[in-house]
Amino acid sequence: MVYPLNQNNYMMTTIADRLADAQHRIIQAAQISSRNSDEIQLLAVSKTKPNTDIIAAYTAGQRHFGENYVQEGEAKVNALKSSCPEIHWHFIGPLQSNKSKIVASLFDWMHTLSREKIAQRLNEQRPDTLQPLNVCIQVNISQESSKSGATVDEVHSLASSISKLPKLKLRGLMAIPTATQDVLLQKAEFKKLQELYLNLQATYPDIDTLSMGMSNDLEQAIEHGSTMVRIGSAIFGERDISGN
Ligand SMILES: *Cc1c(COP(=O)(O)O)cnc(C)c1O
Repeated sequence: MVYPLNQNNYMMTTIADRLADAQHRIIQAAQISSRNSDEIQLLAVSKTKPNTDIIAAYTAGQRHFGENYVQEGEAKVNALKSSCPEIHWHFIGPLQSNKSKIVASLFDWMHTLSREKIAQRLNEQRPDTLQPLNVCIQVNISQESSKSGATVDEVHSLASSISKLPKLKLRGLMAIPTATQDVLLQKAEFKKLQELYLNLQATYPDIDTLSMGMSNDLEQAIEHGSTMVRIGSAIFGERDISGN
């Protein structure tokens, strides 16, 4: 399937325009797959970007934001608490166990859970005054040893452990498929994730989140059932630090 190119980005100078453009891409992709675009959430990935960019997106109506780095996320959550009170903060980066408390106490979502030990720590550290932390299991869908995430075989046992922890709420799966020009490989990975998600949903009917798709592949992800696309550069522009 050929998708329309993301046109005229050079003319779209404001964050509000690019946000609208990303939403438009989601709506178009949903239509192509005969899906309801209301079931696809846009997560604005603001890592490395200043608070003024977040405020610009918030003013334009965006409410879900994703951050990758614990310290940077902590600073932003605290700085924007009063000016952007309706933000739902999503942690989407790798998490070391010694920093889990910050995520447990400041974030609403955690997308990169792949170890039982971290799940237990987050559960213990989640303050009683807060709703359970929404979590997705990150799957290493390419099965490369260098990549983070649970293996496909580990997903069910990890889900079972998480479902017993009262301060965590299992919402679904997250993955970062191989960055590739190989459309067939990309499709195969998205398809595998979709199957794994539907399979998990058969056991846990309450799960509702398949977090996959980024600026360059959101159309493919939506075609394969994504319910949450994580969009950074298409909204906020390219980042300075390569590899992030
Ligand atoms: C940076 C990042 C994104 C956003 O990537 P873009 O290509 O800028 O849209 C999405 N998900 C994760 C986990 C990321 O680290």
